Amino acid sequence: MIKNAHIHFNNLGTPFANDFGDIYFSNDDGLAESHYVYYEQNNIDARLQNHDQPHFVIAETGFGTGLNFLNTWQRFTDHLARQQVQNQLDNGVKRLHFISFEKYPLHIDDLNKALQAWPSLSAFSNKLSKQYPINLEGCHRLEFDNGLVVLDLYFGDALESIQAMSYPQTGIVDAWYLDGFAPSKKPEMWQQSLFNSMVNISRASATLSTFTSAGFVRRGLIDAGFNTKKAKGFGQKRDMLVGQLECVNDAQSAPAYFHQDSSALKNVAVIGGGIASSCILYSLAKRGITSQLFCQDEKPAMGASHNVQGAIYPHLQAKNSPHSELFAHSFLYAKRLYNQLLGSGFSFDYDWCGVLQHAVKKPLADKHENLAQKQLWPTQLMHNVTAEQGDEIAGVETGYSGVFFEQGGWVNPPQLVNAMLSAANSINPFKSLFNCNIEQLKKTEDGWFLLTNSEQLGPFSDVIICAGEHSDAFEQTKALPIVGVRGQVSHVQASEQSRKLKTVLCHKGYFTPAYLDHHCMGATFEKNTKSRQVTALDNQLNQEQLLSFYQQSEFASTLGNITSAKAAVRCTFIDHLPMAGQWCEQSDYITAFANLRLGKRYQYQQLTKSQQGLHIFTGFGARALCSAPLSAEHLISCLNNEPRPLSERVSQAIHPARFIVRDLIRNKI
Ligand code: SAM
Repeated sequence: MIKNAHIHFNNLGTPFANDFGDIYFSNDDGLAESHYVYYEQNNIDARLQNHDQPHFVIAETGFGTGLNFLNTWQRFTDHLARQQVQNQLDNGVKRLHFISFEKYPLHIDDLNKALQAWPSLSAFSNKLSKQYPINLEGCHRLEFDNGLVVLDLYFGDALESIQAMSYPQTGIVDAWYLDGFAPSKKPEMWQQSLFNSMVNISRASATLSTFTSAGFVRRGLIDAGFNTKKAKGFGQKRDMLVGQLECVNDAQSAPAYFHQDSSALKNVAVIGGGIASSCILYSLAKRGITSQLFCQDEKPAMGASHNVQGAIYPHLQAKNSPHSELFAHSFLYAKRLYNQLLGSGFSFDYDWCGVLQHAVKKPLADKHENLAQKQLWPTQLMHNVTAEQGDEIAGVETGYSGVFFEQGGWVNPPQLVNAMLSAANSINPFKSLFNCNIEQLKKTEDGWFLLTNSEQLGPFSDVIICAGEHSDAFEQTKALPIVGVRGQVSHVQASEQSRKLKTVLCHKGYFTPAYLDHHCMGATFEKNTKSRQVTALDNQLNQEQLLSFYQQSEFASTLGNITSAKAAVRCTFIDHLPMAGQWCEQSDYITAFANLRLGKRYQYQQLTKSQQGLHIFTGFGARALCSAPLSAEHLISCLNNEPRPLSERVSQAIHPARFIVRDLIRNKI
């Protein structure tokens, strides 16, 4: 569990770490020091004007008060303004990506107090403060200024965080701000293994600067592959170090069979019109990538994203699994995104009223007990409640203990999808084609074409299939092992008692607080059918299920009639995880990775990648509201050669090749 730093402010107002006996920045002028030591000595200004990619990546050890980040953000904003004045929008860097590792995050109150020292940065620090994350280990992707500035704030040890990252062979970092407490006060961070892992994620032209000139740091950096030299230190400090990567290595986080390709992403076709596709389109728009939406329905969100109220909360296990990591970080990212949309004037109905999961059966009670004992998750994400506490939160009597997700709640998914599409359109307009049934995908030398029964659309550099249960409808993707689960949600009239419900209840299904004087009640769970037909039997099942758990509760026994319902097939995979990545052709894998059958993890052959440019993004089941936004960011970050928000183990857990690799290892295919 991540613990906050213990700090006090010294008589000059500078934050001071009690446990390590060191200041966070210079007593003289911390902002000037930050600018000189890190921004100037890495020559960032000039490099922003002349870089080989539209995004520039800085990585920092020790986020502390965020001063280095805020100064860099301010300077980057000046750079964008200069670009605009000089009408040079086509040249130079357009997006700043800042990665920072922090083992002992400041408490938000300490952060705010520390940043009051810099009124010139207040416009930036206020935005940071609003998004500053809770104490959850791992990568928190924070986005500012419509995604022009991205901060991947890793809570956890710098070395361990880098070792868990997903990154390509070419590296991702252009410049290093090697900060931290003085090596004499806290030597643990300044290890050879940290310097080596910095090289693993550096691009060939990476530079570094650090306030220290300690001999062992310099030697360690040289051993790792940086050429370093002393530069004049800031203020009274005599020396500091600057460096440039000299010996590039070919490390990458994934084995060849879980590789994530990059792509030119010139003109992207997105198939599907639900939450998944709107997230992809939004991630593309932020990067200024041209795209086009194709949907077989007459308007967005008519498939599994069509519910009137969808619950949003993280699906957490009592272990630190890839599954829990995906959902915990996805949930926090989704909440930030949805609040940003609302803050930018895009509207949808929602209520962040929390989600209360009731221990309605013994296995659930055991699971909750296990969660309470393990104490893996910060209270702001999830906490156990007694029956009395739960009923107090819910506003109705149930008698069940449970776990409460206080930041959860519900949104109206179709409205959310429309808001997200409008937001994407406002950043980078794209065309949408509804009532358009894509029957075939064809790859030619010019790119990908989409075929309907009457026309051929394209070419596109890439196709991303976000078509839920229909994602296996194409010749290329017919082997996709989709498990379709039909679910019906019933809309039941509220009563005087049920209107008192203040939070979303989860039992085996869910029950929402009244909205438009109705509650959503559901859902049924039926495999092996693709019918979207609403049935009276399913309404009855939903009613019976609710009463089976809450027959003693007035809110449930006094409900009115079911006036309508919605049914759809949710697309899932057998491991309950989504799928995000380039399409992996089984026959190609069987040849290239035949050695996996023999238990050998080497001597593979090259993949032919005959379907390059085809990507799959689906399988979110009933949890797309939570998991689709961050997974979309991950897929587009991989394709666009940017830092990736999901760790390597999560990236592998949602990789399209996972079932093929599993079967090869088991010698089943
Ligand atoms: N860059 C910061 C700023 O702008 O305020 C100042 C950084 S302060 C001098 C050093 C930071 O490094 C502290 O916040 C400390 O918690 C962090 N730190 C120390 N050891 C670390 C480690 N092993 N991994 C990640 N962060 C670490």
